[in-house]
Parts: sequence; structure tokens; C-alpha cells
Amino acid sequence: MLKSKPILIGIFGGTFDPIHYGHLRVAEEVVRTIGLQKIYFVPAGIPRLRNAPIASPKQRTEAVRLAIQDNPNFVLDKREIYRDGISFSIDSIYEFKQEFGEEIGLCFILGADAFIKFSEWDSWKEFFNLCHFIISTRPGYTHTSINDLLPKELKDECSKRWVINADDMRNETNGLIFISSATMLDISATSIRKNIAAGKSVRYLVPDVAINYILESKLYL
Ligand code: ATP
Repeated sequence: MLKSKPILIGIFGGTFDPIHYGHLRVAEEVVRTIGLQKIYFVPAGIPRLRNAPIASPKQRTEAVRLAIQDNPNFVLDKREIYRDGISFSIDSIYEFKQEFGEEIGLCFILGADAFIKFSEWDSWKEFFNLCHFIISTRPGYTHTSINDLLPKELKDECSKRWVINADDMRNETNGLIFISSATMLDISATSIRKNIAAGKSVRYLVPDVAINYILESKLYL
């Protein structure tokens, strides 16, 4: 048991191809409702479990930088784009743990669509020894359906880890799972890339500064 309640820090990994208001709204709401000290946005360099991103790591990172620059709670972390080879989130979580120290509670933020496939990730069980999870619901997922959709091994691993009160994550530094009820926005990077390719507007789906950068760089055409 911890002597004092840990500070909680969010780690938000993703391809961010490109970043959009679905990501930003989740981050804003979990900072406010859970009282995370900061959220680190960690764009993946070369993701293992999906097709290669369209934009380069540098371009995706620059769009993230522009999109979060005016929010003092949001931090861009470039470690995965500097790392050689495929990006494994577990490596970043180990590094964050070392940098922040044992007393800090790391909260790994994942959308429901990503969490139901989490047991395909490298060293997935090890995450529970290092961090908590904040799962953001997405359209098509409810609190109950997320659990129902988990494959058996992941469901069993999660069964004693669910908490319905976010404050419970302050009693430990790792190993708990909280589903955030942040406003669900039906926005995906896939639909944004399609809209841009079709010459359609993505205004109000992506921050203007990021749209300007995407258009200047002729991305997703
Ligand atoms: P793509 O459509 O290319 O698969 P994406 O929109 O899901 O991309 P990612 O960069 O892959 O975006 O997502 C990073 C993380 O953010 C993932 O955990 C994902 O589930 C979550 N996420 C993405 N969009 C939303 C959204 N609209 N609401 C909640 N979580 C989201």
C-alpha cells in the first residue's frame, strides 16, 4: 500500500494519421475528470499491428505538435519516432516509469476498439505491472459491450481490475482499468483521410492549424 496518493500521468499513444478532435476531446475530458497532471501524446514511428501510415512520422508528429500547442496539460513526446524499428508501446511505458519514478501512476489511454485487441500486443500482460488503463468509449461500444468483446484470456486478466470510480486509481500505481465516459465523437483518422482524398472539408473534425499543415504538405490527397 502506498504512503501517499500517487500523481497520475496519462500516456496517449497512437498513429495519429492524422490527429483529430476525437483524440483531443478524450484527452481533455480525462485530464479534467480524472485530474491527470499531464497527458503525453506519443505518436508511433512504425506501428506493428496495422498498415503503414500514409504520413511520415515527422509529418504526423508535427500535426500533433500544432494541434496541442496551446494546451499546457498536453505534451508531445517524440521517443517512438526517434527509436529505430517497430514501435512497441511497452518500451515507452518502461522508459516513462523509469523517468517519472515508482511513485507516479501512469495511465495508458486506449480507445475501446484498440483495447479489445490488446492481447495481440507485445508483452501485453506486462503493462498491468507498469500502468493503469483508461479506456475511451467510441461509437458502437458501451461499457458492457467492451467487456463482452474481450477475448477470453484478456477478459480473465481484466476481471479483477475494473474500477468504476476513477479515484481508485490513486490507491495503486498500476494494474487497474477504468472506462471513461467522455463524449463519444464519431471521428476516425480513416474517415478524415478519405474526406481529404475526396476533396471534402474536414473542418471541425481536425483543428484548423493541423488542417493547414496537412493541406500545405499535400497529405492524404
Ligand atoms: P484509424 O482510423 O487510422 O485507425 P484512429 O482514428 O483510430 O485511426 P489512432 O491514431 O489509431 O486513430 O488512435 C489512437 C488511439 O485513440 C486509439 O487508442 C484509438 O482507439 C483512440 N481513438 C481514436 N479516435 C477516437 C475517438 N473518436 N474516440 C475515442 N478514442 C479514439
